[in-house]
Amino acid sequence: MTREESLLARRQRLMGGAYRLFYGRPLHIVRGEGVWLFDAAGRRYLDAYNNVPHVGHCHPRVVEAICTQAAALNTHTRYLHEGVLDYAEMLLSRFPPGLEIAMFTCTGSEANELALRIARLATDRPGIIAVENGYHGNTWLTAQISDEEPGEPREDRIAIVPCPDTFRGTCRGPDAGARYAQAVAQAADRLRERGYPPGAFIMDTVLSSNGLPDIPADWLPEVVAVVRAAGAVFIADEVQPGFGRMGGHFWGFERLGVVPDIVTMGKPMANGHPAAAVVTSQDLVDGFGARASYFNTFGGNPVSCAAARAVLEVLDEERLPENAREVGQYLRAGLEALAERHAAIGDIRGSGLFQGVDLVSDRATRAPAGKLAQAVHNGMRDRGVLIGTIGAHDNVLKIRPPMVFSREHADLLLACLDEALAN
Ligand code: PMP
Repeated sequence: MTREESLLARRQRLMGGAYRLFYGRPLHIVRGEGVWLFDAAGRRYLDAYNNVPHVGHCHPRVVEAICTQAAALNTHTRYLHEGVLDYAEMLLSRFPPGLEIAMFTCTGSEANELALRIARLATDRPGIIAVENGYHGNTWLTAQISDEEPGEPREDRIAIVPCPDTFRGTCRGPDAGARYAQAVAQAADRLRERGYPPGAFIMDTVLSSNGLPDIPADWLPEVVAVVRAAGAVFIADEVQPGFGRMGGHFWGFERLGVVPDIVTMGKPMANGHPAAAVVTSQDLVDGFGARASYFNTFGGNPVSCAAARAVLEVLDEERLPENAREVGQYLRAGLEALAERHAAIGDIRGSGLFQGVDLVSDRATRAPAGKLAQAVHNGMRDRGVLIGTIGAHDNVLKIRPPMVFSREHADLLLACLDEALAN
């Protein structure tokens, strides 16, 4: 038995069957540095998948911030602490007026769960509208609005609208934007008829688990107008696009021309230390606070906030959102050049350091090539480059590296993808 086989058996025995691993031959990673991961045998892999180590694996500034604060104090939000307030101030300065209160959680799931509770209690309306094939978390309610439990019926207070996919599906054609807004209005009607007036519309602002379909710039303002007219609030799930990943904009909603009522974030916020947040208005928090109080044992602890503060400082000092834009454009041009040689590339989407490559078995019909995507995913791993796959058909290659990804790293990825697609 190899070391990997014995770890796999041990993991199965101790952690059970619900967990999933990546790759036909799972990786045993023991160290990370910048955009590199190293396995137990010392082999180096270019990490073009992990967005949590946002400013690079084990960034010394983040490590130092964690160690220094952990050596001084780690408690919770029932005591006064400057570090937590300093971070809240720094974070809120990245938002437009009206988004002025930060509440801390440990995970994106918890942030979405809290956002939905705020919407529910502040509007007094229990209905939720969510997008098909989205992902918002692993709690009961967030799993209900994700596609995590195939076959499990959804609660009546939830209505699902299609993904606004302009490449494949029903959202194509000249009037697709208006039809989409109408679909959201109909979902609100359905909820009202069932006795659950809508209180929230939640959407991942880059539709990451849907495979990153590009949303036309004028679509969302109309949708949000419909949502607000129905008495609901718009929750922007920024767990994937937030913190400058898309290049140019710090938040995904800025690309869509809307200001949300509630924003949730997590994953990259503290470079791997569990930290997540809800940012919203004073009014909504007052509405929530009148009927509930909030405490989260670990959310907003001084160590997490120190790590999160270091992330914002490094993003600014190393100009990483600008790097995401520049290297993202370079990567995009390289992917477009590959599309000229590989008919399997049906579409390239996303921006900055989050790009998707939709693989098709036929460019005319746009039939998704899920099996090929898996082969490319594994082929790249074998060649030392880590990417992912996403989308309802799992046929979209997901390229989402740490923000310190450079042109040289992009060249390596492109060369490897060229080979993997040729095989
Ligand atoms: N929302 C989105 C868009 C996500 O991608 C994820 C995690 N993949 C979550 C929420 C949930 O975050 P967490 O795993 O931190 O609970």
